Amino acid sequence: MTIWQQNDIKDRPAVIGPFDNSELVCLECYKPMEELYPCSICSLPLCSKDCENKPRHSIECKYFKNTKPNFTECERSTIYSSIAPIRMLEIQKENGYIWSLVNRLEDHLQERRRGEPWTFLQETVFPFMEKYCEQDYSLNDLERIIGIFRTNSVKWEDKVGLETRPVGHALCPVFSVLCHSCVNNTRYTIEDGLITVRACIPIQAGDEITTQYRGPNDGNILRRPDFKKNWLFDCSCVRCQDPTELGTHSSTLKCFKCREPTLYPRTSDLESEWECRSCGDIVTHSQALEITLRFESLLYGKLYSDPPPSWEIFIDDLEKYLHPTHFICMKAKRLLLQIYGSRDGYTLDKMSKEQLERKIQLCNNYIGKQANIYK
Ligand SMILES: [Zn+2]
Ligand SMILES: [Zn+2]
Ligand SMILES: [Zn+2]
Ligand SMILES: [Zn+2]
Repeated sequence: MTIWQQNDIKDRPAVIGPFDNSELVCLECYKPMEELYPCSICSLPLCSKDCENKPRHSIECKYFKNTKPNFTECERSTIYSSIAPIRMLEIQKENGYIWSLVNRLEDHLQERRRGEPWTFLQETVFPFMEKYCEQDYSLNDLERIIGIFRTNSVKWEDKVGLETRPVGHALCPVFSVLCHSCVNNTRYTIEDGLITVRACIPIQAGDEITTQYRGPNDGNILRRPDFKKNWLFDCSCVRCQDPTELGTHSSTLKCFKCREPTLYPRTSDLESEWECRSCGDIVTHSQALEITLRFESLLYGKLYSDPPPSWEIFIDDLEKYLHPTHFICMKAKRLLLQIYGSRDGYTLDKMSKEQLERKIQLCNNYIGKQANIYK
């Protein structure tokens, strides 16, 4: 029986807050600021008087109103990192139902306590809160709350007029129950303060409903380590376990020796040696990583405004070292297929037949390849 073709899951954040934020933003509306306006009640950073006494900021405002931390003397990242925990402690105290949903989520505390971000919290955020924040909490509760927020929150956006503005991270307690798969069976959108999860293929009763904590566009070599680093798990999905990445060869290199595009990991182990399936040549994982990072930085250094012929040469050069459907080649091709048809001198009515055919070829290539990794 297909149980979930038409029903959406809708969820609302229990809390939204900055996440190790070094940008100077307003704590109410998250507008980036050149100059800060210190809240006249608590002295924390807002953009203007209009953002005083509004729902988001008023939570922490009452706990700092007597102590008024001096924003220029306290580390900006310390102040911003304390805001989401303070807002979550408030939920724990004031909203039993929401807290019951939040409290069942994973915190990975034991592993987190051993990591570097935790040292930052212990050395700066915890002492800052103890000194300035007049909120009742135990250290155990604070640590659990931070663990839950770091494990489960997602990047959040607000629509302000026509502009979509990143507003830190949000913890959505129902959405957070979904596990990750790089070949997941749902998509989500964020609109009007709600996250809506929709099935993208029919999901059978008993099947796991999965989402993505991280986008699929990077190859395994760069994508997989992020799961361990940010969410403390190794992804065991079909793509991560397949050295060819479901035949997409998203990380496959041209062999250093025979130049065939057949150099990829021997096994699904993250640190596995890489073996050329044409000539048997072996390279280490770090050699493969080094070359991948070098080409990724070349792509980031390339200007979007460069003319299409320069992009064509760039893609040719990439393909001398990378599999033609390597994720870096695919990112470059995606940019070029967008340039064809929109750039001045290359609008559809101005393009030659050959150029139009090239755009179609790039589109078909992109759709064909991505079909394997997007359900
Ligand atoms: Zn504001
Ligand atoms: Zn305030
Ligand atoms: Zn995976
Ligand atoms: Zn070879």
